[in-house]
Amino acid sequence: VHLLHFEDVALTFANGTTALSGVNLTVNPGEFVTVVGPSGCGKSTLLRIASGLEQVTSGAARIDASRIGYVFQDATLLPWRDVQSNVQLLAELNGVSKKERAARAAEAIELVGLSGFEKHLPKMLSGGMKMRASLARSLTLDPQLFLFDEPFGALDEITRERLNDELLRLFTEQQFAGLFITHSVSEAVYLSTKVVVMSGRPGRIVDEFPVDFPFPRD
Ligand code: ADP
Ligand code: ADP
Repeated sequence: VHLLHFEDVALTFANGTTALSGVNLTVNPGEFVTVVGPSGCGKSTLLRIASGLEQVTSGAARIDASRIGYVFQDATLLPWRDVQSNVQLLAELNGVSKKERAARAAEAIELVGLSGFEKHLPKMLSGGMKMRASLARSLTLDPQLFLFDEPFGALDEITRERLNDELLRLFTEQQFAGLFITHSVSEAVYLSTKVVVMSGRPGRIVDEFPVDFPFPRD
């Protein structure tokens, strides 16, 4: 069974801009799908549909995953909460008990390599560390499907490559599926089990190919 299934999806905004047309896309368990394409081709819109933030104008978007994690470029940590308390936030909102969410947060912080930074406030963290905290916050809900909208786009190249490697490791260990938006072809190929290429206005899927996973490093 699919985690996400788009059939002939089109979306026209209220101002008349058609962002997507004729989009067919499936994400299955075990897949890490990257969507690559130039600015303005509808990648973010596609992800917003997948996250339930936008409704399609025609076609069908079926979201079968019940636990979905989101990591967007803006890590959106609460500035007055330390790392530990930010990471616990989603579990807290989902009614997970105090003891259980502390345990989940500790595990997630360890998984993303933020051990030792539990008491740091967001303003004391580098951009890469903020993304790690944001990733940890979603991991506490044990997502089946993770949605990423250019999460590392604002980071320097070295930090970005390091986080990509960590993401690959997490994907392999934690068994979530991924839908990852980027405008970098090398990043897309490096990260995914399948690359989907979008282009045009309105955006369409113009190519799709599987990738040997993980992409050979040297
Ligand atoms: P990408 O993520 O590939 O850069 P977007 O999905 O952000 O592309 O945008 C696709 C197209 O839809 C662009 O032309 C953009 O200007 C337009 N668009 C995005 N959001 C809205 C909106 N809320 N209202 C009107 N047009 C929008
Ligand atoms: P080269 O053939 O130049 O030695 P590499 O094997 O280092 O290239 O990488 C192949 C491509 O994948 C390059 O475009 C590189 O920028 C990209 N790449 C390598 N490592 C990563 C990473 N961790 N994250 C994203 N892209 C990467």
